[in-house]
Amino acid sequence: MQNFTFHNPVKILFGQGQIRALATEIPPAARILLTYGGGSIRSNGVYDQIQQALKGRVLFEFGGIEPNPTLETLNRAVALARAEGIDFLLAVGGGSVLDGTKFIAAAIPFAGDSWQIVASHAPVTQAIPMGTVLTLPATGSEMNGTAVITRGATREKLYFSSPLVMPRFSILDPETTFSLSERQVGNGVADAFTHVVEQYLTYPVNAPLQDRMAEAILLTLIEEGPKTLAQPEDYDARANLMWCATLALNGLIGAGVPQDWTTHAIGHELTALHGIDHGRTLAIVLPAVLQHQRKRKRAKLLQYAERIWGLRAGDEESRIDGAIEKTRAFFESVGVPTRLADYSVSAETIPVVVERLAGRGPVALGEHQDIDAAAVGRILALSL
Ligand code: NAP
Ligand code: FE
Repeated sequence: MQNFTFHNPVKILFGQGQIRALATEIPPAARILLTYGGGSIRSNGVYDQIQQALKGRVLFEFGGIEPNPTLETLNRAVALARAEGIDFLLAVGGGSVLDGTKFIAAAIPFAGDSWQIVASHAPVTQAIPMGTVLTLPATGSEMNGTAVITRGATREKLYFSSPLVMPRFSILDPETTFSLSERQVGNGVADAFTHVVEQYLTYPVNAPLQDRMAEAILLTLIEEGPKTLAQPEDYDARANLMWCATLALNGLIGAGVPQDWTTHAIGHELTALHGIDHGRTLAIVLPAVLQHQRKRKRAKLLQYAERIWGLRAGDEESRIDGAIEKTRAFFESVGVPTRLADYSVSAETIPVVVERLAGRGPVALGEHQDIDAAAVGRILALSL
């Protein structure tokens, strides 16, 4: 096992009725800015529950944070927050609202061009405290310090991380997810599944507990994802799915093990260029990454084939083929197509993605940093 530091101070309040706890979780004298997206919280009743819980409090609001939140929109929230002396942010929605609010939290006290927080990882030395009410199980943003932000003007989709933007608390009420479309449920399953694989499927470092925790999340996603789609009123399926997505990216399974974020790095470019939903880009890229890296990932691919997909018979190559095929079939089974062609994207995009990645400096992705620009091109060719 590799050395690690693990410190996750996010308080989780999980279950039905937990939104009421906002009344006690947010400091009484806070000047609160409620941030949300395009309106799902108004139509599913979450907005009303929040108003109820925060009755009598100093509460401003900023709606309209879009999927793949943009700098341009978030800057307007920063201006509002500064003008009103906001000292607590409450993000209500999916990963986009949560990520966008993390950026707002860091940008409010930031002197200078706030895009530098993202573009050049300018140090975040202060941030406004924030809490979240999660309505879409997918990203893990509710329990981590990472945010992915898009600059609309240049279509750049980049991330930043800081412990200062970890939420003080996150409320996870599975009932808030009943209003999700099948497409968003499927996207969320694909995102959480990929987060686990990116921290699990590298090379062995004698970390059997991390391996088994990762495998537990994968197996539970494989059970509860399709169950949620087949039985949309099943509270427990939704609850288990929600907790899986949180644990998939709260730092625990990634502690002490190598990681390979190639799929996310390439996926962000596909979203930026073609507007494909985040989870869907991962379902396109992940099978191709596993295929391209099958020699480097051989031992873990065989473990994954056996422990996740029950593939024990046949020679090693065919077990690896089988595991990659099962992965693709799983994404398809939750309604997420896995080929670029399914999204009407042709091979013409390959040099564009490669050039964009290479334009930001040497490309050295993967757990061995051996995925260079040419390899990215080959991976995309396998995704066509
Ligand atoms: P999202 O972009 O937050 O939301 C997608 C759509 O789902 C929105 O249209 C939203 O509508 C709707 N929605 C959310 N909750 C709903 C509900 N309960 N009922 C009905 N509709 C609902 O999706 P996401 O997958 O959670 O977030 C994706 C973003 O997170 C991407 O930018 C991705 O890059 C990023 N990400 C971050 C991390 C991280 O560690 N921070 C990890 C992976 C991905 P409204 O706008 O109307 O609410
Ligand atoms: Fe993700």
